[in-house]
Amino acid sequence: PPKEVTSLNDVLHEVSVLVKPHFGKGRAADYIPELAAVDPMKFGMAVATVEGDHYGVGDADEPFSAQSITKLFALGLALNRLGDEVWTRVGKEPSGTPFNYLSQLEQEAGIPRNPFINAGALAITDILLDVVREPANLVRDFMGVLAGEPLSIDDAVARSEMETAYKNRAIANLMRAQGTITHDPSAVIEAYCRQCAVSITCRQLARAALPLAAAGYSPVMEESIFPERLTRRLNALLLTCGIYDSVGSFAYRVGLPAKSGVGGGIVAVIPGRAAVAVWSPELDRYGTSVVGVSALEHFSRLTNCSVL
Ligand code: GLN
Repeated sequence: PPKEVTSLNDVLHEVSVLVKPHFGKGRAADYIPELAAVDPMKFGMAVATVEGDHYGVGDADEPFSAQSITKLFALGLALNRLGDEVWTRVGKEPSGTPFNYLSQLEQEAGIPRNPFINAGALAITDILLDVVREPANLVRDFMGVLAGEPLSIDDAVARSEMETAYKNRAIANLMRAQGTITHDPSAVIEAYCRQCAVSITCRQLARAALPLAAAGYSPVMEESIFPERLTRRLNALLLTCGIYDSVGSFAYRVGLPAKSGVGGGIVAVIPGRAAVAVWSPELDRYGTSVVGVSALEHFSRLTNCSVL
């Protein structure tokens, strides 16, 4: 086959031009007031390859709020520590409902459909609270070690979410009543909001997700982080549940396992090849970055990297 003619740098620059018409189509999250203060015109994208190369464009080195992207790493930690026991507490099915949906819990005995919707992530936080006092710090440190640089938790974002987390508190309280959360719901919410407030850049995020593309091996740490089989399972969950109730159209357009966050970040995995992170704050009604999805769609087409 003909050798790739354009380098990934050229691809990223082309993508950054192609996404321009998509600014102004979404809205930055404002139910967490602190996130509404971020410049909606931001755009960054980075690629880290399994060979150890990395590429970036735009605001690729500017930290943003990781939000639900942290759920991927929290799940990885829980599975590494507790193995399949985790699956007695959360399911592995796409929810078909918004990420902060409550009613499904009533019908399904408090077992969240998957670990990425808020109910599932709260169950994972509850599980991590069994083994550590500060799950948020554990997740932050894990992501930092994988990224090769220490990360911090943005206290203003954490406080802002904690003050307005009425829906998440309702979910945690209902699950406590159903017995699928065992710790004090307030403690679970506090740990969850702090975890969501981890700040990260696209370049760091691409590196942190790289083990998912490298059969569990972290080229940054030069050691294996996840067993290969677990990596495949995490990618399966990303592909089917990572973008909530628009995961189908995301697969249709991009064709990669990925996780979104309401800070406007998306991280995608190209198994065997690379991890890609993109950030732009304006969201669609499913809580996913509009420009981010468009950027990944163009990237996937230009590099022919869809897994489907
Ligand atoms: N902290 C956010 C929340 O619970 C995370 C949601 C998200 O990023 N999809 O609402």
